[in-house]
Amino acid sequence: MTITFESLLSEITDPNGREIFDPATEDVVGKAPFENVEALDAAIARAKAAQPAWAARSDEDRKALLLQAADAIDAATEPLAELLSREQGKPLNGPNARFEVGACANWLRATAATDLPGRTLLDGDDGQAEMYYRPLGVVGAIGPWNWPMMITVWQIAPALRMGNTTVVKPSEYTPLSVLALANVLNSVLPQDVLTVVSGDGELGARLSSHPDIDKLMFTGSTRTGRAIIKSSADTVKRLTLELGGNDAGIVLPDVDPKAIAQDLFWGAFINTGQTCAALKRLYVHTDVYDAVCTELADVAKAMPMGRGLDEDNVLGPLQNKAQYDIVANLVEKARASGATMLVGGTPDADAPGHFYPTTLVSDIDGGNPLVTEEQFGPALPIVRYETVDEAIELANGLDVGLGASVWSSDRDAARKIAARIQAGTVWINSHGGVHPMVPFGGIKMSGYGLEFGVEGLKSVSAPQVISG
Ligand code: NAD
Repeated sequence: MTITFESLLSEITDPNGREIFDPATEDVVGKAPFENVEALDAAIARAKAAQPAWAARSDEDRKALLLQAADAIDAATEPLAELLSREQGKPLNGPNARFEVGACANWLRATAATDLPGRTLLDGDDGQAEMYYRPLGVVGAIGPWNWPMMITVWQIAPALRMGNTTVVKPSEYTPLSVLALANVLNSVLPQDVLTVVSGDGELGARLSSHPDIDKLMFTGSTRTGRAIIKSSADTVKRLTLELGGNDAGIVLPDVDPKAIAQDLFWGAFINTGQTCAALKRLYVHTDVYDAVCTELADVAKAMPMGRGLDEDNVLGPLQNKAQYDIVANLVEKARASGATMLVGGTPDADAPGHFYPTTLVSDIDGGNPLVTEEQFGPALPIVRYETVDEAIELANGLDVGLGASVWSSDRDAARKIAARIQAGTVWINSHGGVHPMVPFGGIKMSGYGLEFGVEGLKSVSAPQVISG
């Protein structure tokens, strides 16, 4: 049967549920179920009951199902992308909705292709010992609203491959996207291996304290991450925490500003800046400062922003009003401090939707709140620096450390600088690209634990040594 946008939506709509709004028009997209703690507890009990049979299947079986799930996503790309665009706001086109749906399928395939962890530790006169990675049981996942489908797959695919069952609590802003994704996956997976329970932070808190959740994957703000550490303490729950960031980029004086402008732009403005590992503060050497500002401004002005369903657009609205207000307030503080609005900075208050214009702010002090606080939107402060030591000190000066980048025509020099930056990933001449085989995670208050590749599989497993 062909899946259409209407059939997808009708399967997940709850007439008694909560209205979910399109951030571009503020129209209702649909009504999502809003479940209570008892419903969550029941889902966890079903996941626990289903887990032994899922773990007893062969790894070949589980891999085959992940590959079939990827094919099912491919077959539903257009309706999934349309729902994602309507609910999250991101355009269909560009590195946005279709790209996100495609990434879900890619990640499932890559997870199936990853070598399982486990190795011989000792095999000789010293004795014999092997390291095994067993399923943990039920893995819980709590996600944010910025890349709702892709992050869900990041959280659940390794858990499923390793023989765990999963219970997902999506963001209350984007539950429809995750429910629809799960329906497509569940057309292939056995019952109760993947369950989505839609609700707000109360359900998240229950998931993080529940005794039958053996591991929790959390992606969201550092504030909520802290709450989860506390609520999960009594059950000594294993946690992977992918938290907030405020990524720095350092541009060295040897760059060709025109050649890097497009990549700098997308490093900062992918998903209209609503990306944890987006470039959020750019430090540019004084020798190339004016040229980088000019080239970046030219690229920024050429990128159309508007409703995601219009194929011309590559930038969309902020997903919600609260996020819009955070961005608007931080840009206002920058303006009040005397910084220059190189591009944007003046939203149209009367226009429908939560659109904030693409904004580049120059002549701004490194201590300005637009630089030091996570604004999570389409604004980029560009700070001038004189020496590399000064730039590294500024980059390392915050308590977060998710990603960072160094831009230079000398790759070796850039790698030496990268080694001095406190971040989980440092990219050279790009920013934010992730690959399913390359581990990803933050340091400092950006969280702990790694996703992707064999490290991702280990993170959802119980390590066991058999010795003797
Ligand atoms: P958020 O922390 O407000 O919400 C995330 C999720 O946590 C939601 O599902 C929410 O319902 C749930 N939640 C709320 N209170 C809870 C509680 N007490 N216990 C358990 N769960 C609770 O984050 P957000 O606004 O949805 O997402 C934006 C943030 O996510 C940004 O800070 C961004 O940097 C971060 N993020 C990080 C990564 C990463 O990989 N490091 C990726 C994407 C987003």
